[in-house]
Amino acid sequence: MFMTISTTGTPERPATDLGFLLHKHPDKAQTFSTSHGTAHVFYPEASPERCTAALLLEVDPVALVRRGKGKGRGGAPDAALASYVNDRPYAASSLMSVAITAVFNSALRGDCRAMPERAAAPLPLRIEVPALPARGGAELVRKLFMPLGWARVDAEPVPLDERFPEWGDSRYVRLVLEGELRLCDALRQLYVLLPVLDDAKHYWVAPDEVDKLLRAGEGWLATHPEHRLITSRYLSRRWGLTRQAEQALELVRLAESDDLDVESVDNAVDEATDTPERPVPLAQQRREAILSALHDAGAARVLDLGCGQGQLVQALLKDARFTEIVGVDVSMRALTVAARRLKLDRMGERQSRRVTLRQGALTYTDKGLRGYDAAVLSEVVEHLDLPRLPALEYAVFGAARPRTVLVTTPNVEYNVRWETLPAGHVRHGDHRFEWTRAEFRAWAGEVADRHGYTVAFTPVGPDDPEVGPPTQMAVFTRAESDSTTGGKSTDEREKEAKAA
Ligand code: SAH
Repeated sequence: MFMTISTTGTPERPATDLGFLLHKHPDKAQTFSTSHGTAHVFYPEASPERCTAALLLEVDPVALVRRGKGKGRGGAPDAALASYVNDRPYAASSLMSVAITAVFNSALRGDCRAMPERAAAPLPLRIEVPALPARGGAELVRKLFMPLGWARVDAEPVPLDERFPEWGDSRYVRLVLEGELRLCDALRQLYVLLPVLDDAKHYWVAPDEVDKLLRAGEGWLATHPEHRLITSRYLSRRWGLTRQAEQALELVRLAESDDLDVESVDNAVDEATDTPERPVPLAQQRREAILSALHDAGAARVLDLGCGQGQLVQALLKDARFTEIVGVDVSMRALTVAARRLKLDRMGERQSRRVTLRQGALTYTDKGLRGYDAAVLSEVVEHLDLPRLPALEYAVFGAARPRTVLVTTPNVEYNVRWETLPAGHVRHGDHRFEWTRAEFRAWAGEVADRHGYTVAFTPVGPDDPEVGPPTQMAVFTRAESDSTTGGKSTDEREKEAKAA
């Protein structure tokens, strides 16, 4: 297994600084023993103009097999011979990524006491891996590295045997990456993507692999177009771990987009309606409609899902009929504002026992959300990408299953009545879609059918004879017998019934 890292330099910034950044002196060849063999670091060239560090890992295949770690994903070694004669000593793979941590640990963290500013800045890099096992071929290699800021990603298939081109290509590619990146970013990418491409992790994937993946993926994995493939392969397709990782990445993504939208969401809607003709802001009319629907349903313990900055939670707290209120939002910033609005820190004990704010993504089932009388999704669904909506649907209607669910969302038909809204625009930049009344009814009807609820619709705001009201609300009520099975939710309900 072999990999080189090269950089170029100038008289002021000599290429040999690479030695400081990697914490390995260019004049010395060094040897390290890792759990699977011996790693050597040496510099085939080291001048102020150009410097190359090479990492060579000598794997002991016999030791690998004896440790029972040379197995494929299937478990047992294929055959007696195959388990000794394998490609591990030659191919860059997950073992290489173990070697990267063992040998370049400080560089991976971006630490460099001698030259912190050099470590923090991009430098011209060229990385070459002559034999990279790549399940998915050169095309996948390009898909994985191209979005990461490299100017050149060369992945050339290595023929099975040069003398017999008709045999086609092997599963190896020769990889060359060139571009201006921080050294630590380049190493973190390799640390994750080499084993992802190899797709045959040699060791048991332990739960702390999720943390390692997230740490190494910081700053690039959450927004990588192939993040799902990367997490799934890196975690050897262990569904539970992959889900954990994906959930964490979703939080990262939402927290990033959050910087743009949280503050403006409510204000945008409020300001748009705060005109003399409509003295009661739409947001307030919506809260009143929700409170009255919750009263009608006789709900006492209520979830406010996507609670934002806590205006509804505040209104619920003022009404003694609501004995327990849980606000959930993915945005830490929104929750902080909500906590301040509610003065959570100065609240008396009796009040504070009634209210909880917690961070969570609504597209993941959460056992803690079971057993409530009602859930409110006020102006939330339109913030999700349409393909994520079934996940939210399942989490709320399939798993949490409160007796009543209220969903409000803009009625896009009404948009022509907003004077301030340019034609064809949604009401807020973060709205992924806005539905017509017919579209909302179709969605709500299907959800109700799938999960054993009935649904009724209530207009919120002035109900225009032509285009309808600005906000549409669906009131879902769980069928009393709860006999309709909603696909996967049956299990959940059986468990719930047992618990009760
Ligand atoms: N319910 C409030 C806020 C609506 S704004 C109101 O009616 O005024 C939408 C809120 O949903 C935002 O606070 C956003 O952070 C939250 N949100 C969006 N997607 C989410 C998700 N997947 N999980 C949890 N909260 C989410």
